[in-house]
Amino acid sequence: MNPLWDRLFAPLAARNDALLTLPDGGMVTGAAFHALALGLAGRLAAEGVAPGDRVAAQVAKSPQALALYAACIAAGAVFLPMNTAYTPSEVEHFLTDATPKLLLHDPAAGLAGLAARLGLRALTLNAAGQGSLRPAAPLDPVARAEGDLAALLYTSGTTGKPKGAMLTQGNLLSNALALAGLWRFTDRDVLLHALPIFHTHGLFVAVNTVLAAGGSLLWLPAFDANEVLRLMPRATAMMGVPTFYTRLLDHPGLTRAATAHLRLFTSGSAPLLPETHLSFTQRTGHAILERYGMTETNMSTSNPHDGERRPGAVGFALPGVEIRLNAAGEVEVRGPNVFAGYWNLPEKTAAEFTADGFFRTGDIGRLDPDGSLRIVGRAKDLIITGGLNVYPVEVEEALDAVPGVLESAVIGLPHPDFGEGVFALLVPRPGVTLDPAAVLAEVAPRLARFKQPKAAVLVDALPRNAMGKVQKADLRRAYADRFAARR
Ligand code: AMP
Repeated sequence: MNPLWDRLFAPLAARNDALLTLPDGGMVTGAAFHALALGLAGRLAAEGVAPGDRVAAQVAKSPQALALYAACIAAGAVFLPMNTAYTPSEVEHFLTDATPKLLLHDPAAGLAGLAARLGLRALTLNAAGQGSLRPAAPLDPVARAEGDLAALLYTSGTTGKPKGAMLTQGNLLSNALALAGLWRFTDRDVLLHALPIFHTHGLFVAVNTVLAAGGSLLWLPAFDANEVLRLMPRATAMMGVPTFYTRLLDHPGLTRAATAHLRLFTSGSAPLLPETHLSFTQRTGHAILERYGMTETNMSTSNPHDGERRPGAVGFALPGVEIRLNAAGEVEVRGPNVFAGYWNLPEKTAAEFTADGFFRTGDIGRLDPDGSLRIVGRAKDLIITGGLNVYPVEVEEALDAVPGVLESAVIGLPHPDFGEGVFALLVPRPGVTLDPAAVLAEVAPRLARFKQPKAAVLVDALPRNAMGKVQKADLRRAYADRFAARR
């Protein structure tokens, strides 16, 4: 028994219709995908990957990259996908922390030297789905239990360096089944998939839910408004981050007719502004269904499929999931969706759970009278830009290391395109003349592009409270209009 394989992937063997349809009209049938996944699982085993071993991948989105995820499940390995924007020095942290047995990388990303230095086995897979990762003799899926790990996803979450969230087979399967039922997915659904697959949204929420229902995917390498609008007439559903919706609203091609074939649009990973929700309804007649979750918990709440999809609210707890607010207003979650803890960090894990087993999300929530949740803030200043998390401390450390910088503060400001844009305040050392643009250029090689501040200003000092803490809320207020409010 291998619950995730048996329920999500094994049924593909009998499908001669498209599982993945590519933008150029090409397709991968369910049976072909199934065969590729077992062939790649055979290859993993031949490379020495045993059940429980981590397999790290920093590869572009392709059918082969998705088959690698399936192969890891078949082989009982723990899949560790990494954001393609991460620089080699960031990747090094994941590799030394997770100690994978094998690394899959795109030759263009320049990781070969790092793998050699760490003594790590490495195979390549490029954006076209080609490289030294080739199928071997198919592997019989290995036995796994619901409590066994299926994936390790690094998240900046709330504090310090990215931590590996351990996700079990049962976590992923319970969430896929809950969402497929709640959102009425069937084998007739075609999901327009333009999300990245190194993140829980694109990989698990989107892919696993469709697989659980026996549907198929329109497999786009990335989000492009023209491409998305061109392909919409072939899709029945789309899952997006709020940035997708603001970009579509900026496109004259977004009309009632263009979206007529779809039955469902969902949004998550960051707050969907009520204006965006309402403008989308006006333009298309569709009310976006907003849901809420995080890497550690998978999805926890959702607006109803058949009831009111309330702008600004993230809805009700999923079946089997419990949600509550603690005295500080922080959202706490318990259920089969909640992860098994942070890799190598038992104390940190213990600190994030209450005595009765609820996970503290770090999100501040409010409940409407009927129990629908609203997310009103983040306890610890996490920035979400274009759906991706940026932990300010990591950026501040890079800025502070630049000669001439005394200290810095990094905050997220409302941004019309990215939801939040990363913004930096720099305090120069006494007597030093700093050029903010030059400081940003200097940290660029050390930070993934999405973490790099979009602008920086010089200030004489940072506002602090009596405890010496920088008052970021004050800074966010003072610079709120910096990235031009949405019209
Ligand atoms: P991640 O682990 O990258 O999925 O990020 C999770 C965080 O994204 C959550 O803790 C929330 O702060 C935020 N988030 C996810 N969905 C929503 C939503 N619908 N509204 C507001 N914030 C959200």
